[in-house]
Amino acid sequence: MDRRILLIGAGHSHIEVIRRWSEEKIPGVSLTVVDPSATPVYSGMVPGYIAGQYQQRDLEIDLSGLCSRSGANFIRDAVVATDSAKSSVRCADGDEIDYDVASIDIGSAVADTDLPGVIEHALPSRPIGAFLRHIDALANAGTATADRPLLVVGAGAGGVEVALCLDARLRASNRDLSPSRVQIVTANRSLLEGGTPSAQRAIERQARARGIIVHRGRKVQTVYADRVAFEDGEAIPCAGVAWVTGPAAIPVTAGFDLPKDDRGFIQVDKTFRVRGVPNLFAVGDCASLQGMKKAGVYAVRAGTVIDANLRAFVEGTQLRAYTPQSDFLSLLNLGNGEAVGTKWGVSWRGKSMMRLKDRIDRAFMDKYR
Ligand SMILES: Cc1cc2nc3c(=O)[nH]c(=O)nc-3n(C[C@H](O)[C@H](O)[C@H](O)COP(=O)(O)OP(=O)(O)OC[C@H]3O[C@@H](n4cnc5c(N)ncnc54)[C@H](O)[C@@H]3O)c2cc1C
Repeated sequence: MDRRILLIGAGHSHIEVIRRWSEEKIPGVSLTVVDPSATPVYSGMVPGYIAGQYQQRDLEIDLSGLCSRSGANFIRDAVVATDSAKSSVRCADGDEIDYDVASIDIGSAVADTDLPGVIEHALPSRPIGAFLRHIDALANAGTATADRPLLVVGAGAGGVEVALCLDARLRASNRDLSPSRVQIVTANRSLLEGGTPSAQRAIERQARARGIIVHRGRKVQTVYADRVAFEDGEAIPCAGVAWVTGPAAIPVTAGFDLPKDDRGFIQVDKTFRVRGVPNLFAVGDCASLQGMKKAGVYAVRAGTVIDANLRAFVEGTQLRAYTPQSDFLSLLNLGNGEAVGTKWGVSWRGKSMMRLKDRIDRAFMDKYR
């Protein structure tokens, strides 16, 4: 092998690069994948897992199996530093890996986990594999009541799905229609703030119908084992906390010698090339590119472009520019067999939306089996 492609992280974009490698290799070029997880998780099915609709294996990708079928090398480790001048990365176990061209797709962390008590007492939604492993304990603790609920902090798409699916799970296991044992905390005035108004209305109605109390305009100051205290001095008792506050840069990127925006995300141009580093790309949540939202649907769509550009780089042909989709079909799982689908500013709620979501998600997973 005279040239080496290195994939750092097997996120939603890179798994498509690995899959395509099985269909078409480039003679004389090797593909190596580094990821600390042997079973990266497909986030779109996580709420369904919480609601009891899926098993863990339904949403995990067997990365070492995918790599071996594709003829790629898999190294189970985390990259902790980059040396872009030397075209080399350092892993957590101290090993260095050299490359001719590399791409970073390591996802994001959760915002505000540095607030007092969050790491000790709350369950952050990322890393998503750890979230999946611990959410059962939170949901099954059995100590939640309407007065001492499970709190979901964050009311973006992820937060409301987690809350509604937790609520559905608690109701299903106890067959009760009493007030919800899940409550939502948000610093904003509404659920899905900034989202499509019709989707906001559908989600607000759903929360109301289930009696899910929403604490609006509340900023968490400290999380304790048995309560959450707000900046305004009030506190509410709780049986557990899921922390779903939206994306933040993964702390490890502080050790990457790369240009970053003011939130710590890696700056790339429209081809996903890291600014000022010709043989390094970054894609998905970890990359900062105008118009590219930090959502799985964007990362998935970017997979074909990063694949084309890594190939173009080694073959010396022209790189392709990525154009983020202006709109996409958003499908939010309500946990009760229904979903809310939104496109072109219009929302639909019902079982048919959930069937569509299930079909899309299963088809996605089947591609990587
Ligand atoms: C609960 C929840 C539900 C969501 N539901 C949806 C949804 O329905 N639709 C949607 O569009 N988006 C959804 N999202 C958002 C979505 O998860 C992200 O936008 C998406 O995962 C980003 O993909 P990615 O390719 O950037 O990285 P990811 O898919 O997050 O993958 C990152 C990979 O990098 C690896 N990694 C991390 N650090 C390192 C390192 N230092 N070295 C090497 N590898 C590393 C990780 O192990 C992981 O395999 C949801 C998020 C959450 C939290």
